[in-house]
Amino acid sequence: MAQQRKITLQESEIPTHWYNILADMPNKPMPPLHPGTKQPVGPDDLAPLFPMELIKQEVSTEKWVEIPDEVRNIYSIWRPTPMYRAYGLEKALGTQSKIYYKYEGVSPAGSHKPNTAVPQAYYNKEEGIRKISTETGAGQWGSALSFACKLFGISCEVFMVKVSYEGKPYRKVMMNTWGAKVHSSPSNLTEAGRKILAQDPNSPGSLGIAISEAVEVAALNEDTKYSLGSVLNHVLMHQTVIGLEALKQMEKAGDYPDIVIAPFGGGSNFAGITFPFLAQNLTGGKKIKAIAVEPTSCPKLTRGAFRYDFGDTVGMTPLIPMYTLGHNFIPSPIHAGGLRYHGAGAIVSQLLKDGIIEANAINQNECFEAGLLFSGTEGIIPAPEATHGIAEVIRQAKQADKEGVSKTILFNLCGHGHFDLSAYEQYLAGNLVDYEVPQEVINASLAELDTPAI
Ligand SMILES: *Cc1c(COP(=O)(O)O)cnc(C)c1O
Repeated sequence: MAQQRKITLQESEIPTHWYNILADMPNKPMPPLHPGTKQPVGPDDLAPLFPMELIKQEVSTEKWVEIPDEVRNIYSIWRPTPMYRAYGLEKALGTQSKIYYKYEGVSPAGSHKPNTAVPQAYYNKEEGIRKISTETGAGQWGSALSFACKLFGISCEVFMVKVSYEGKPYRKVMMNTWGAKVHSSPSNLTEAGRKILAQDPNSPGSLGIAISEAVEVAALNEDTKYSLGSVLNHVLMHQTVIGLEALKQMEKAGDYPDIVIAPFGGGSNFAGITFPFLAQNLTGGKKIKAIAVEPTSCPKLTRGAFRYDFGDTVGMTPLIPMYTLGHNFIPSPIHAGGLRYHGAGAIVSQLLKDGIIEANAINQNECFEAGLLFSGTEGIIPAPEATHGIAEVIRQAKQADKEGVSKTILFNLCGHGHFDLSAYEQYLAGNLVDYEVPQEVINASLAELDTPAI
């Protein structure tokens, strides 16, 4: 074979450590603040919600954190994940650029999310926790955590955003199959849910609301902890196994990316693939461009404010310094993708503020068109979230061709779309509407914030 399409690694090459970018950042993020006192939170404030080891990882500035053997052992079910050279897509575009992608859809849950679900369940188990509560938007995180909890014999309770609960019944069945209990959120099982339902009985729900419900369950139950699938420092760190493998695979391919692209919800898959490359920007004299891609319907990175805000809607989580649309922002339910979170992780926000990464927002019809071109040339049907990355890849390749240059572009194909076929159905029927949030809506949401400015 003249062309090598698939670049693989041996099981022994699964990373032994996660990479912590806090060690290399020129400006560290400001500290999270207590929701009541507005003072920096300490480990004791977080102890009701998270096991101590994860709290330690959350504040650690050690560059490398060892991955426990038991976690690496479970990673080996699907890791190392393959990297592909996208010859089919390149040919269809007629581009001079080289396109590579790392495929995380081979995990049992079908996305990158188990990379952090497994260590989170492991540390909870180590500290004797019997139950974990969480939220899920499109259902990817809930599935990943249900899978991980099942392996460690921990009960799992999931608050699933109502629009997804109704629109993606098989994600729910998948969670049930792994033994989890799933509720439509807002629910009347929690104070937070009841409060939202009182204001709007037809609330479609949002990730922010579902987080409030899950946090409340953990805060009120001694044997229950809470788990988050994105945003937090330790979550982003766990995902760096993606980029660490990708570095080795690029080396095997005899190449190095000029541009690394990933879709952006709260920042975890973006961090996962880009941070190990950014480490080489920050300390090794390299100059890759890292681009986060969000939907125009939920544009916190490109149109949000950089300030302290809550991670949830009701205001129970610590205040995080981040790009946000305001914790009351409810993304339009007409959008098909799962990138519907009002904020962004503190680390990624600081990197954006410092110009170390870039962000772009793309409309959903362009994304699905890119997804269809990809599935028709590379075979894999991408998750709607992942199509945002693909659309940006196509833009970058076209731009390079226009400039008469060839770029090496790497992107994270963070999941497959097998449970998102109703969104494809709508796209194919011509029913998806592009949606730009009106500026008044963003202004009004931000004006409601009484959280500290930065
Ligand atoms: C959860 C998810 C996202 C968005 O979350 P990040 O933390 O930004 O990665 C994107 N793609 C897929 C497939 C997901 O499951």
